[in-house]
Amino acid sequence: MADESEDKEKTSERKVGVYLCYCGGNISDHVDVEKVAEKVRKIPGIVTVKTNTFMCSDPGQDLIIEDLKKGTVDRVVVASCAPDLHETTFRSAITRAGANPYIYEHANIREQVSWIHHGDKATAKATKLVAGATAKAKQLQPLEPIRVEAKRHAVVIGGGIAGLRAAKDLAIQGIGVTLLEKSPFLGGRAAELDRIAPTGEEVSGLISELASEVLNDPVIKVHTCAHATNSEGYVGNFKLNFKTQPPDPGEFDDKIKRMGVSGKSLGEFIPFVGVCPSTIPEKGVEHTVESGVIVLATGFRTYTPRNGEYGFGNFEEVITLQELIQVMAENGESRELIVNGKKIKNIAMIHCVGSRQIPGIHDAGEDQKLNEYCSRTCCAAMLQAANMIRETHPGTRIFEFYRDIRTYGLGQEELYERASKNKVIFFRFEADEAPAISQNSGSDSHPLMVKVKDTLTFGEEIEAPVDLVVLAAGMEPNDVSDLVAMMKLPVGADRFLQEVHPKLRPVELAVTGILLAGTCQAPFDIGEACAAASSAAVKASALLSRDYVELDPFVAEVDIDKCTGTGACVEVCLSDGALSLVEMEINGEKTMRAKVTPALCMGCGACVAVCPGNAINVMGWTLKQYEAMVDMIVSDEIAAF
Ligand SMILES: Cc1cc2nc3c(=O)[nH]c(=O)nc-3n(C[C@H](O)[C@H](O)[C@H](O)COP(=O)(O)OP(=O)(O)OC[C@H]3O[C@@H](n4cnc5c(N)ncnc54)[C@H](O)[C@@H]3O)c2cc1C
Ligand code: SF4
Ligand code: SF4
Repeated sequence: MADESEDKEKTSERKVGVYLCYCGGNISDHVDVEKVAEKVRKIPGIVTVKTNTFMCSDPGQDLIIEDLKKGTVDRVVVASCAPDLHETTFRSAITRAGANPYIYEHANIREQVSWIHHGDKATAKATKLVAGATAKAKQLQPLEPIRVEAKRHAVVIGGGIAGLRAAKDLAIQGIGVTLLEKSPFLGGRAAELDRIAPTGEEVSGLISELASEVLNDPVIKVHTCAHATNSEGYVGNFKLNFKTQPPDPGEFDDKIKRMGVSGKSLGEFIPFVGVCPSTIPEKGVEHTVESGVIVLATGFRTYTPRNGEYGFGNFEEVITLQELIQVMAENGESRELIVNGKKIKNIAMIHCVGSRQIPGIHDAGEDQKLNEYCSRTCCAAMLQAANMIRETHPGTRIFEFYRDIRTYGLGQEELYERASKNKVIFFRFEADEAPAISQNSGSDSHPLMVKVKDTLTFGEEIEAPVDLVVLAAGMEPNDVSDLVAMMKLPVGADRFLQEVHPKLRPVELAVTGILLAGTCQAPFDIGEACAAASSAAVKASALLSRDYVELDPFVAEVDIDKCTGTGACVEVCLSDGALSLVEMEINGEKTMRAKVTPALCMGCGACVAVCPGNAINVMGWTLKQYEAMVDMIVSDEIAAF
C-alpha cells in the first residue's frame, strides 16, 4: 500500500472531468444545472465541466470520449439518472476511449434530486452530490474485472414448458444441459390443460413436440424424480448435488387422474404427458453436476380455495377452473356437459379467486400472506372454457361474475368478444360484495343459487340458479424454500422469485449466473413463460460464450499488513466461503489472516464495518473514498449552499 503523503500527491494531480445531464428537462426543470456547473468548476482538480441535454446520447458520450482521448481528463464524473440505468453506458464509453472503466463515479441527480425536490433545494442538493462524487473520483484507482473459469454447461431446474424451452434453447447454442424435474413427468402444469387460450390449440401437441425434442437432444440429460440437495460455487463454477429416486406409484395415478384422460395404458401417455420411462430412476441415486449457470423454472401451483370460499368444500357443485378443464376433456364432443354424473345446464363462473386479494376483505393464507397480484392467465382461460362449452353444448347457459376482465394479450380480447357473441352473460361485482353461493330453495331443479349486486346495472340484485360454480383459482409460487435457502435466492413480497429489475434485467437474479424462466417469477401464460425461458437461455449463453466469466471488481480486499486475524469480518460475512481465516507465515511466524474469495464476495461491506483495524475495504468503495466524499459535502464552501 502506498503511504499517505504519496497518495495525497497523486490525488492532487488527478484531472477530473464532470459531465452534467439535463435529461431533456427531467433534471433541468428542477435543478439549475448551469449553476451546479458553475459551482463545481471552482473545486480544485476539476479540469472540465460540461453540460448536455442527454448525456447518454452518442453526442453526450462523445464529450467524455474526446476528453479522455486528448488526455484532458483522467477521472470521470457523470451526474444524471440512477446508475442502474446508465452506469454501464458510461463505463462502456470510457472503455471505448481506451481508458480503465473503473475511473468513473456516478451522481444520481434525477431520482435522488429532481424527481423529489424543487427550486433552490434541488440545485443545492445536486451540487453537494456532484461535489462529493468529484472528491471520490480523485481517489479512484483503475481496477481489473475478476476473471473466473466458466464451465460450458447449464443446469435447468423444473421440467415444465419453461424449463423444456430453456433447455432446448441452451442446447441449440451448443451448451450441455442437465434438466432436473422433481415429478416423473415433463410438461408441468400446462400438461394438465386441454385446449389453450388464446389459440384454442391442444396443449398435448405442443408439449409432446417440445418434450421429445428435449429427450432426443444428445447434449441434454433429463433426470425426472430429481431433487437438488446442495448447491455451492458461483457463476461459471456451480456444483449441484441432487438425488433421484423411484416415484411413488400414486404419483402416476394422481397425475393421470388430473389429466382427465383415464383408461389409457402408460405407453399411451408417453407422448401426451411427457413421461419418458428412460428418465425415471429405478433406485435412489446421488448425483453431482458442475455447471456455469443455473436456470430456475420451478413454476407455480394453483391456489386452493379456502374451505367455504364461494361454497368450495361445502357443495360438490363448486369446482375450480382446472377441474372444469379436465372434466371438459373427458366429456369430449358429447352434446351434453356431464359433471359428477349430473347434466349441467346453468353454470356460474367466478373470476379472481385467490388473486387480487385485498387486506381487510380477503382471508390470508397459512403464511399470513395475501395474493395481491393478478394471476393474468385466468380471465383468458375462463373465457376459453366458456366459449368451448357454449359452442359444444349449446343447451348450456353461462353467467360470468367478474371484478375486471383482463384479456390483455395478443388474441385474448377476441375471446371476450366471442363470449359475448356466444351469449355468455356478464355480471360485475365489487371486491367487498362478492357473489354469495347458497343452496337453491326455489322450485326449479338447479341445486345452487348465486346472488350478487351487479355494478353493470348500478347495483341491481341478481339471482342466478345454477348447476355448477366454477372458480378461476389463481396462481401461487411453488414452494422452493429449499432452493431459496441453498442458493440464497431473493424472493419478492408476492413470494415469487425476484428479478434484479423488472424492465432492464427481467430474467436475472441478484445471484450472478442464476436465471429465471417462467412462472417461478410471476404469473405468465405459456407464451410469456416460453419468452422468459428463451431470454434466460440467451443470457446464459452470453455468460458462457467464453471459457471465463468476468465479474465486477467491487469486492473486499484485505490489507495483510493491517489485519490482526481477529476474524470479526468472517463472523459477519453472509456469503458462504467469501471470507475465511487462513494460516500464513509472516516474518517467519505462523499466524492467521483474513482471506477473500473474490468470486463469492457480494461487496456488501459488512466486513468493513466490523474490522477493528480498518484492514478490509471494498474495492471501488474504500473507506478513504467515502471519507473524501463526506469531507467534501460538509466542507464550508459546499455546505454553505
Ligand atoms: C387454470 C389454468 C388455466 C390456464 N390456461 C392457460 C391457457 O389457456 N393458455 C396459456 O397460455 N396458459 C394457461 N395457463 C398458464 C400455464 O399453465 C402456465 O403459463 C405454464 O404452465 C407455466 O409453465 P412453467 O414451466 O413456468 O411452470 P409449471 O408448469 O408449473 O412447471 C414447473 C415444473 O417445475 C417442476 N418443479 C417445481 N419445483 C421443482 C424443484 N424444486 N425441482 C425440480 N423440479 C421442480 C414442477 O414439477 C413442474 O413440472 C393456465 C393456468 C391455469 C392455472
Ligand atoms: S386474470 Fe382475470 S380472473 Fe385472473 S386474477 Fe386477473 S383479473 Fe382476476
Ligand atoms: S464484502 Fe460482504 S460478502 Fe464480501 S467478504 Fe465482506 S462481508 Fe463478505
